[in-house]
Amino acid sequence: MNSQQLFDLSGRVAIVTGAAKGIGMGIAQNLASVGCSVAIADLDSIEAENVASEIRSKGDQAIAVSTDVSDQTSVENLCSQTMSSFGHIDILVNNAAVYPMSPISEMTMDLWDHVLNVNLRGAFLMIRQLAPEIIKAGSKGRIINISSINTGKSYVGMPHYDSSKGGLEALTRSCALEYAEHGVTANVIAPGAVKTPGSMTVRGNLAKERGDPTTAEVDAEFASRIPLGDWATPDMIGQATTLLATPAASYITGQTIYVDGGLKLTI
Ligand code: NAD
Repeated sequence: MNSQQLFDLSGRVAIVTGAAKGIGMGIAQNLASVGCSVAIADLDSIEAENVASEIRSKGDQAIAVSTDVSDQTSVENLCSQTMSSFGHIDILVNNAAVYPMSPISEMTMDLWDHVLNVNLRGAFLMIRQLAPEIIKAGSKGRIINISSINTGKSYVGMPHYDSSKGGLEALTRSCALEYAEHGVTANVIAPGAVKTPGSMTVRGNLAKERGDPTTAEVDAEFASRIPLGDWATPDMIGQATTLLATPAASYITGQTIYVDGGLKLTI
């Protein structure tokens, strides 16, 4: 295989959940840039269509599918729409997640269930539905789950989220073992701090608690803790995810790859 073939995904089809904005959008755009046809699966169908049409405007292929990953019927619909648009599925990126904060002492069961349902049950439903298609495609496909640096360090206010991401990593290892005989790999990308609409809410809340009108101070404080000196962009997480999807990564499975500018080394 020459160096171009090692990093080429022409003819491959990927589904990226939560791809209407933030990290998922960065992942979908990067996969499309190396030849993948991409299904943008998100609750937010308007923004999902915007991302898909921007990808199409660059000459690449994308569809938007309104999806709730925590709902079996919705996941079945995503699978059948992607199959009818592109004919096969090779790559699944489970990125959709929610992260509303609450300490254990104030946690309602509704909030706990919501976070676990989207972040962990959703990924499981997607894998159970799509792994048979990925195996059938015969391209030695990929399952890539987006976890978090939070599995290495927990925070007050994130017990539901941290539990969901810890579970997602365990689920990934099970996938790696179960699908290895088909040449399908399963890995985790664990981002550190990334500027996205979702993290903007958390950063905004932290700034408000300090009485800051902007997030500039919170952002600078976080950046100073990161060995490579700054927050990640969604594009950086997209590049690392795309790398795992390429033929160059065919012998990597069951791993967690931290894409965090070295932050994990400091905690
Ligand atoms: P975000 O909130 O900016 O975007 C998440 C997207 O997921 C949104 O478009 C939303 O509509 C969609 N979504 C939510 N619930 C859904 C559902 N039930 N079905 C389908 N789509 C749904 O989030 P982000 O910051 O881009 O985070 C993306 C991933 O990266 C998540 O898995 C998150 O845990 C992880 N992560 C983020 C950071 C960070 O600093 N931003 C750090 C570590 C890990």
